[in-house]
Amino acid sequence: MSTSVRTTCAYCGVGCGILATPTGERSATIAGDPDHPANAGKLCSKGTHLGETIGLEGRLLHPMIGKRRATWDKSLDLVAKRFRDTIAQHGPGSVAFYVSGQLLTEDYYVANKLMKGFIGSANIDTNSRLCMASAVAGHMRAFGEDVVPASYADLDTTDLIVLVGSNTAWCHPIVYQRIRARCEAGAKLVVIDPRRTETADEADLHLAIRPGTDVALMNGLLAWCRAAGVVDDAYVAAHVATPEDFWDRVGEGSDLWSVARICDVPPQDLRRFFELFAANPRTVTMFSQGVNQSLSGTDQVNAITNLHLATGRIGKPGAAPFSITGQPNAMGGREVGGLASSLAAHMDFAPENVARVGRFWAAPNMATKPGLKAVDLFRAVGEGRIKALWVMATNPAVSMPDAGRVREALAACPFVVVSDVIAQTDTSLHAHVRLPATAWGEKDGTVTNSDRTISRQRAFLPAPGDAKPDWWIVTQVARRMGWRTAFAYDRPADIWREHCRLSTYENDGERLFALPGRSGGGNAEYDAMVPFRWGGTPFADGRFSTPDRRARLVPVVQKPIAAPLADWPLTLNTGRYRDQWHTMTRSGLSPKLARHREQPMVEIHPDDARGAGITENGLVRVATPQGDSLYRASIVATQRAGEVFVPIHWTDQQASGGRTGRLARALADPFSGQPGFKSTPARIEAV
Ligand code: SF4
Repeated sequence: MSTSVRTTCAYCGVGCGILATPTGERSATIAGDPDHPANAGKLCSKGTHLGETIGLEGRLLHPMIGKRRATWDKSLDLVAKRFRDTIAQHGPGSVAFYVSGQLLTEDYYVANKLMKGFIGSANIDTNSRLCMASAVAGHMRAFGEDVVPASYADLDTTDLIVLVGSNTAWCHPIVYQRIRARCEAGAKLVVIDPRRTETADEADLHLAIRPGTDVALMNGLLAWCRAAGVVDDAYVAAHVATPEDFWDRVGEGSDLWSVARICDVPPQDLRRFFELFAANPRTVTMFSQGVNQSLSGTDQVNAITNLHLATGRIGKPGAAPFSITGQPNAMGGREVGGLASSLAAHMDFAPENVARVGRFWAAPNMATKPGLKAVDLFRAVGEGRIKALWVMATNPAVSMPDAGRVREALAACPFVVVSDVIAQTDTSLHAHVRLPATAWGEKDGTVTNSDRTISRQRAFLPAPGDAKPDWWIVTQVARRMGWRTAFAYDRPADIWREHCRLSTYENDGERLFALPGRSGGGNAEYDAMVPFRWGGTPFADGRFSTPDRRARLVPVVQKPIAAPLADWPLTLNTGRYRDQWHTMTRSGLSPKLARHREQPMVEIHPDDARGAGITENGLVRVATPQGDSLYRASIVATQRAGEVFVPIHWTDQQASGGRTGRLARALADPFSGQPGFKSTPARIEAV
């Protein structure tokens, strides 16, 4: 009889624990792990149907050079030689890695070490850039470190939950169940979202604000709190640095009537929100892509952190700003430095940090400054400045904004490597070398979820064909590039221990880096690891990670909202469906999940549909300056007039319509580099 294996879900940042019980060579039953703190045995529809997605349909099983099957030796030698030659000829800045929140922490660690310590460039960025980079930038500005000062347990004790730009009921369903349970015990729920989503439907109050006006809303609330005596002056005086002009700047134009007009919401609803916030010191403000994927996402994050810092609602049970991540290991990637803008273990590129990490790695070629962020990285590929690119476990030809341009860039790049579990993706069509990676259920390592609970992902299926773990593939290339000793790992536990040591290396005893106090343990301890969060509540002692240990109020102000353009009168918003995940390479394999939404629909307000002669379920062309694609019409009053919504999941491989990645602009927040997927000028026409 097979025994169950404790692992974690392949999909979202909630990070649910799973008990997987093999029932055959390629089959398993899936159940929620009752002992995992993130889900206590519950699973949403995506997690429940993971067992339907572990077959070998569409898998890449062997290394491929061009269209020919090759050996690992030949393929790895070729990758190492082309990267080495490119670096020798054009310098370390001429190569790049584009990686993924689907990688395990150990995979991420070695890819980051290879690029930043040995190749000598920081041109490694991740699809997590599209997901939560603005939260990272906002945390750095406010707290001096990318630390999420909240846990799921805060949801069990809070009195007010404010969800900003998050359809939690669909995108983080198990967290949403926890929120509902707390609401049934008396907590209030406010949802701030231009769309009336399933989450907004069940809220005590829904503010359908004009897109991009979150800063005005939060500044209005802050001004209200100050006038109502809700600002915690003693906490601010003791723990928060306040720029001299802060209150003048955030207070200007922040009276209730002005804010109601800017945000396009009824003043009485706005007042109710402000009163709820003022009356409930135990508030959790949870935010997601509606905030992060804005062209002013970092400012929006800081408008939220300002509120919590000014009212002292941080570092206490049930009171925190809470960024909830999209991907299963976006947070693990942040911890090891998988973003081009950070070095490792939450450190930036300050000279002392570069020197410290260089000593630890005994690195010959430390990167000394941030590398190219995703949008700029693919722009550099298109302009011929990046001449060798390695894409790991992601599909940028679909998921990047202005994806048509990304395809052109990939097609023109002299050398593209794709390591993936899927044989043919829109990205791998342009690969010179394809390397078969092990998939969820076949690989071992750790992941970090949204509240920084670290859990093991464990294998319960054999690796098929020639598939190998990502960490193994990266280290084999590194060794062939000449760095045998630095990449002499035998198993993921070796990498985990090194990551733990780096987190505390030359630490002055203060909590500064990613995993304070963890030695990593031995192999047996790694194999038996149970989910853990590092001890205590972040910032409970009022000491932050800045040099003076004080948090920062950041004087953010609302940017002017551009008037609609004559040729592009609508605003295009994008997002997820409940039962699909990213570009559907896994979730698309489940027949049961496909039933929820069988095709891509564009959601249109009745007034806009009428004006364009569009009927329910009719074919609609959605066009932007970047491209166009077809969708079926869903005419709904839950959509604001002047705005349309489309899902992100469909690709050229799956359908002739719904190619949303082609539509969005390749514009990004100036601080975080996160693309603004939520506000592309667009128009629609009946087909
Ligand atoms: Fe998986 Fe997220 Fe669903 Fe949990 S909530 S089962 S992590 S998809």
